[in-house]
Parts: sequence; C-alpha cells; structure tokens
Amino acid sequence: MLKIGILNLQGAVSEHYTITEKAVENLKADVEVESVRYAKDVETCDGIIISGGESTVIGKLIHERGIDKVIKENKIPVFGTCAGMVLLSKKTDFDQPLMGLMDIEVKRNTYGRQKDSFEAPIEILGQEYLGVFIRAPALKSYDKSKEDIEVLSEYDGEIIAIKQGSNIAISFHPELTQDTLIHEYFIKEVMKNKN
Ligand code: GLN
Repeated sequence: MLKIGILNLQGAVSEHYTITEKAVENLKADVEVESVRYAKDVETCDGIIISGGESTVIGKLIHERGIDKVIKENKIPVFGTCAGMVLLSKKTDFDQPLMGLMDIEVKRNTYGRQKDSFEAPIEILGQEYLGVFIRAPALKSYDKSKEDIEVLSEYDGEIIAIKQGSNIAISFHPELTQDTLIHEYFIKEVMKNKN
C-alpha cells in the first residue's frame, strides 16, 4: 500500500486531505492518506502534498524540522499548491526558505493581494477546470534546458501549472473545488514513481 502525506504545518490542509481521499476512492487505488507534521512521518510517505498558506511560515518549519532533507534524500514526489508552488521553486522575489526541488522561479502574489483573489476557468490535462486563485503566485521563468519539465497550464499569459519529474507545482487551489482531476494525476505519478 502506498502512502500520500498531507503536510500539516499551516494553511488549507484539511481540504487537501478530503479531496485526496476522494481521488483515491475514484481511482480505487491502494493508497492511504495521512496528515504528517514531522520529518520521521514524511519519510514514510511515497508522495507529499503541500497546501496553500503562508510560504514563509511553512518554509521555515519545513527547514527547522528537516523535512526538506528527508524529501530530498528519499526523492519523494511533491505536489505543491499555491504556497506549495513557491516552496518547490529555486527562487522567488522574497528572501525566504525554499526547498528548490524544481528548476523554476516564482513571483509571489502575481495577481495582487487577498482582495484581488478570483476564480477563472482554466484548462489543464486536456480538461476545463475551475482555477481558484488566492494571492496566487505564477511562474517568472523555468529552466528550458531541463528535459523533464512540462508546462501543464497557462492563464492570461502566465504559467500557472508545471511538472518536473514527479513533482507538480500549481498556483491555484484545487482542494477548494470538488474536482479530483489534479489530485488523481498526482496519485498516478506517485504510483508510477514507485514501480
Ligand atoms: N501568497 C502566499 C505565499 O506566497 C500564497 C497564498 C496561498 O497559498 N493562498 O505564501
């Protein structure tokens, strides 16, 4: 049985837990979903989901608790949404702790402040999807020389979803929709990575 850990440090964690369980059910996959807070728990997971929230706070805790170290050592695939995208990047426009697992540079709060949050139909994985953007980042750039990078979605001229190897970074909040599409996609990546 595989295990997906929902990193429970700060932010929209419970919604990710619920939608991940729903995605597992839809896939009829032999996957357990667990909320994880410390490196020793993260280490036992085959995939990790990092929610939206405050990337400075989540990043500080990830670093202090050595969570980034076990993710790197064990090459655990990570699916990061919003603040999670920021944390997957190598560089942002702020000075903050990052995991740097993807060759991407991110601009935080690309669309403005909390009051500028919005929903918009986007397209991803060949389907229409509701993008919920809450102080969302977007990509500033990515390393085009890396063959394992694939842009998954663009909106209004900005890259809002990208994959590198088994890591996925998206700037919006799929856990706030009822649509399990992207969570199912990540679970399938984790299963592929394990085989
Ligand atoms: N702007 C936040 C950050 O960069 C992310 C917001 C969110 O996750 N909803 O940390």
